[in-house]
Amino acid sequence: MTTPALLINGTFQPAADGATIPTLAPGTGATLAALPRGRAADVDAAVRAAERALEGPWGRSSAAERGRLLGRMADLISRDHDQLARIEAEDTGKPLAQAKADMVAVRRYFEYYAGAADKVHGSTIPYLDGYFAYTVREPHGVTAHIIPWNYPAQMFARTIGAGLAMGNACVLKPAEDACLSTLALAALAMEAGVPPGALNVVTGLGEEAGAALVAHPGVHHISFTGSPEVGGLIQRAAAANNVGCTMELGGKSPQIVFADADLDAALPILVAAIIQNAGQTCSAGARLLVERSIYGTLVEALAERFAALTLGTWDQDRAVGPLISAVQKARVQGFIDHAVADGIPVLARATLPADLPAGGFFVPPTLFGPVPAGHRLGCEEVFGPVLSVIPFTDEADAIRLANSTAYGLVAGLWTRDGARQHRLPKRLKCGQVFVNCYGAGGGIELPFGGVKRSGYGREKGFEALHTLSSLKTVLVRHD
Ligand code: ADP
Repeated sequence: MTTPALLINGTFQPAADGATIPTLAPGTGATLAALPRGRAADVDAAVRAAERALEGPWGRSSAAERGRLLGRMADLISRDHDQLARIEAEDTGKPLAQAKADMVAVRRYFEYYAGAADKVHGSTIPYLDGYFAYTVREPHGVTAHIIPWNYPAQMFARTIGAGLAMGNACVLKPAEDACLSTLALAALAMEAGVPPGALNVVTGLGEEAGAALVAHPGVHHISFTGSPEVGGLIQRAAAANNVGCTMELGGKSPQIVFADADLDAALPILVAAIIQNAGQTCSAGARLLVERSIYGTLVEALAERFAALTLGTWDQDRAVGPLISAVQKARVQGFIDHAVADGIPVLARATLPADLPAGGFFVPPTLFGPVPAGHRLGCEEVFGPVLSVIPFTDEADAIRLANSTAYGLVAGLWTRDGARQHRLPKRLKCGQVFVNCYGAGGGIELPFGGVKRSGYGREKGFEALHTLSSLKTVLVRHD
């Protein structure tokens, strides 16, 4: 792998002061690479480069040209698919098969936004006689993009794909724990012909590079995915400059299983929704609400599956990988230890295989139930392979429990009752509902984002093009 470097004004370079931070391989705990520790001076250079790009040909580019650029990106991603998947798997620790699936989605984001770039229309507005009124969508200008470590390549693709499609000049701050794939994708963007300054990447610490970026007066919009706590800090910085934000702040998403559900179809998806990426997915199905009459049956089948889950390093390519860091491991283990100390029954726990490297950040998938209403295990985001099972008595109880946390990102609903399939989505307070299916992290065409503590604004799909642009109204008097 080439030495990780910042991308500023089309040039890969070290941090201005030459400082670096180590990034670790989660499966072994060994140092994988030294990342440039970008700070305020680097962020400022990136924002200035973005401003210059907007004043130059990039600012005058047609939507069709931008679409063609993104199409070339999609082709380059296909060309480098295996190498990108390997970089992502080593850096995040996720099983190689998962990283390969991620790269399929990454390609698809660019393909989607390549096709969508020149289909963003304004509208004409009936107005007074003698006037012509219309709207047009324009880029925000310089956009800041702060992304987390769980799906670095997918996060890059979803936010930068839409950002470039709309003609913004983007400055990305990836997460310090995993960002090597974003640097590889940035190199592909340069190869595809994205002009200098239209895309800049500043690696570094959140409280240094991230804080400098969101406070920079040259930034016109901030897209953030991460924790509610950091989201709050960023919104305060944005408020100081009066700029808008998109906030994707995680969740504690319920999967609601009624007694009439097709359990054979549901079971593998209920498990996958919490163990995918070792549970480190904003939209993980982390709470399983089960109708009381099938509680015993479902829990027994689930316990069998949980106990049989295998863990391994990225190249062992088993069902579940390590968590991203020692900090994350301690956090998730803390949730498990507290739940056990509080007497919540462990229904199943996978076994750690003897061949795992000693320094890896592994936590065995664990199934708890019944989790009492209000216990933090069933309310707070664990961000690990831990599933809380909670019984409910009837539909009203299910809705009450589903809406009972501070979050509202995604919900899954399993039932064969057609009326209920339409009745419940209206009552669930969240941004996405899956009926008889579940797409933790999936569905690039589907607008995605939350309500309540899960944030606001929508990414993915066509909606992201609206999020990453602003609407101008023009009124022409012609009499
Ligand atoms: P997680 O819990 O997933 O690590 P965080 O919210 O801590 O999520 O981090 C998500 C992203 O926000 C990362 O890129 C991180 O570097 C960045 N970040 C952390 N603190 C700040 C901050 N004070 N200002 C801006 N960005 C930050």
